[in-house]
Amino acid sequence: MIKKCDVKGCQKAGTCRAPKTRELKEYWYFCQEHAAEYNKNWNFYDGMTPEEIEEDWEVRTFGSPIKKRTAQESAEYLKFLNDFINGRSTFDKMPPKKSLPSSIIAAFKTLDLPITASWREIGAKYRALAKKYHPDTARALESSGKEFTKVSSAYQTLKKHFGK
Ligand SMILES: [Zn+2]
Repeated sequence: MIKKCDVKGCQKAGTCRAPKTRELKEYWYFCQEHAAEYNKNWNFYDGMTPEEIEEDWEVRTFGSPIKKRTAQESAEYLKFLNDFINGRSTFDKMPPKKSLPSSIIAAFKTLDLPITASWREIGAKYRALAKKYHPDTARALESSGKEFTKVSSAYQTLKKHFGK
């Protein structure tokens, strides 16, 4: 059975899912028209401080907040975030894709990142994976040590590549 649109009085089918809160656990079901209207008026980050927005974005993107930052780092990060949102990928200089050596591409692949990932994204992903596979925290998994070595070596390769 198809649910009806959640807007009172609307008789159309509620085929579009729209989150009720930013925890994204509960959803409204709207018809296309009402979903578009709802999305337009819904400010996802309403009432949040820049720091909270930042952390929320990190958790969504990388699975965890990256770290506590100084004021200057925060300012830089917000700029990075803005650039990211606005689609300007000027925050990290990357050589043209064609000139990427296969070892670099393999390193990106190991970290499960697109080759367009920025140095900052690489750092965040590496920290997350290193934590996951670190022999001290993942002793139960036999393959963890191997994974940890793989991830670390990919990170070192990219670190050199980015001139860090
Ligand atoms: Zn409707």
